[in-house]
Amino acid sequence: MSKAPLFNRLALIGTGLIGSSIARAARAQNAVRAIAATARTPETRRRVAELGIADTMAETNAAAVEGADLVIVCIPVGASGAVAREIGPHLSPGAIVSDVGSVKGAVLREMAPHLPKGVHFVPAHPVAGTEYSGPDAGFAELFVNRWCILTPPEDANPAAVEKLAAFWRLLGANVDTMTADHHDLVLAITSHLPHLIAYTIVGTADELGEVTKSEVLQFSAGGFRDFTRIAASDPTMWRDVFLANKEAVLEMLGRFNEDVSALTKAIRRGDGEALFEHFKRTRAIRQGIVEIGQDSPAPDFGRPHPGLPHSALPRPYANDDD
Ligand code: NAP
Repeated sequence: MSKAPLFNRLALIGTGLIGSSIARAARAQNAVRAIAATARTPETRRRVAELGIADTMAETNAAAVEGADLVIVCIPVGASGAVAREIGPHLSPGAIVSDVGSVKGAVLREMAPHLPKGVHFVPAHPVAGTEYSGPDAGFAELFVNRWCILTPPEDANPAAVEKLAAFWRLLGANVDTMTADHHDLVLAITSHLPHLIAYTIVGTADELGEVTKSEVLQFSAGGFRDFTRIAASDPTMWRDVFLANKEAVLEMLGRFNEDVSALTKAIRRGDGEALFEHFKRTRAIRQGIVEIGQDSPAPDFGRPHPGLPHSALPRPYANDDD
């Protein structure tokens, strides 16, 4: 016999890629008895209703959280403070409030002041995603074998933290816990800086002009293609990430610029040994990532496109770690 659901009523504020994936996965795993969802625009609310991935569609954020014992805010991080202010007075005592934002320090600072006493705030970041957005892009397996990082404040209720961790494990994720500041530093180098580099390089190539542009597309398999996929990620989400994690991103960008300068110097001086030693070290890092199971050893060529159909994709091709 399957176990009783962990929560009675899950409220999802925002039902794009991440929110709709949580809805699908929570239902597939019988993690909650009922799901109430909402989205900012009537179009998305209508689409979510058509997809039938929630039991009820609420017109407002306040209505969505009524009676919920788990609330997960799945919207761009820049909007999290305003939404917390809106839902604060409508939260049930004892409810767990969480989010999925890619930056944690700012979310903690923006949301916490608006949440009433007796509500347990446990921010979270499922490190899983794709470059697609909206409710149609979600799928139930998105979190399987991916990390979900919880960043509870120092005075968080341990039982609430453990219950949220159990929820994410049920959805297939591995759970880790750390401070919000540490999360933001780690993700600045593993996710935010790579996205910034992708956005930059694709923009640079685009500015090379029409003739080159066709060649850029023609020969895009030589590394550029992967950058274009990452650079197709949602502009609103990533604008908010860089604004909200400014300090850590600038710190990592400074280090990165120093390393680019060193490599530039090596190329200019014809220092093959320096280049070789650097590339040898980075190849070993890649092998380490494969060894701990965070990516496939399969060569890049011929991998299935990470778009459609998601459910048919073998792991780990379906995921970006955002
Ligand atoms: P998404 O597919 O674009 O969905 C965003 C949702 O938020 C939509 O339901 C949208 O409603 C709603 N929304 C947008 N702006 C809003 C606002 N100002 N106020 C209230 N609701 C608003 O985005 P997503 O990829 O699910 O990302 C959601 C969160 O997950 C972000 O904080 C992101 O940092 C985090 N995250 C993303 C990934 C990833 O790979 N995409 C991975 C991990 C974590 P409408 O459709 O009605 O506009």
